[in-house]
Amino acid sequence: MDEGKIEFLRVNRHFRNPIVTGQGSVSSIERLLVRCHLGGKWGYGEVAPWPGFATESISEAVHVIEQSAYQHSNLLKILSLSSNSFPCLRAALFSCSHWEKISRFEGELTSAGLVTPLNASSLHSKWKEGFATLKAKITPTTAVNEVRCWLKDLPDYARVRFDANASLNLEQTRCWLDFVNEENRIEFLEQPLPVGHQEYSHLPSDKIALDESFLTPEMSSWTGTLIVKPLLVGDGLSLLNWIRSHPSKRVYSSVFETAIGRQTALWIAAQDSTTTVHGFDTTGRFQADRLDRHVGGPKTKGLPRFDWNQFWHEIK
Ligand SMILES: [Mg+2]
Repeated sequence: MDEGKIEFLRVNRHFRNPIVTGQGSVSSIERLLVRCHLGGKWGYGEVAPWPGFATESISEAVHVIEQSAYQHSNLLKILSLSSNSFPCLRAALFSCSHWEKISRFEGELTSAGLVTPLNASSLHSKWKEGFATLKAKITPTTAVNEVRCWLKDLPDYARVRFDANASLNLEQTRCWLDFVNEENRIEFLEQPLPVGHQEYSHLPSDKIALDESFLTPEMSSWTGTLIVKPLLVGDGLSLLNWIRSHPSKRVYSSVFETAIGRQTALWIAAQDSTTTVHGFDTTGRFQADRLDRHVGGPKTKGLPRFDWNQFWHEIK
């Protein structure tokens, strides 16, 4: 009787400590948890926009679900009229319709330790947690010389990624690239310049990863590492087709999803045969809200045999 019905929950999550990025500080985020009744079962998905990424807002996603009269088939028809819109909602609907497979995922991925804020003490405490790759946010005021000293205390085999979140100018980018070239522990500099900056074509793609610039697979011609946030890049089927036909280096990354979105993002990451260290060290960052259920740490596992219908009723 519920066939095709869509329900949603709008939730606010508050970080224990604000996440400081090159674009400013984020102290709370809103998420839209969605479920669709399809084939006699509920499938789950999550709309999880993140500041700095050109996607729809939560309110825009809610509005279009309301326009569909909460019916899955109506919503698909509305979305088919505007092919590049609502990437977060498309990702959530893919998750709902593939939930049976996604919910069974129990594999294990290696994750980089997210160091925030960047300082000597947080860098070394993440290292001690067992992360062999560390990822830190930098801003235009981060002092390269200070970071150089902190890295010297890490073993030679440690790997570090720096993410500027599109906040540097060209001069600052070149300064960081000099550091990347001299320091073997640094794997890459992530998104130094703003999205669409013309100088990207003159920068070394082997030392730079793109994140905010990676909006949809079809639009990307970057030959270096791409940071793929499965919940931001639209329909999962298109994403999986692109993964299978494009042999680029991809790092999969969380956008601080709840357990629903995390299970989806991990499953999608595991469909890529490329093995690398991903970015899922995002659990335990929020004030207790019962929306995280996976265990964190350097090895990131799926959550099979979990009762998602019960989860939904618990958080309602
Ligand atoms: Mg990034």
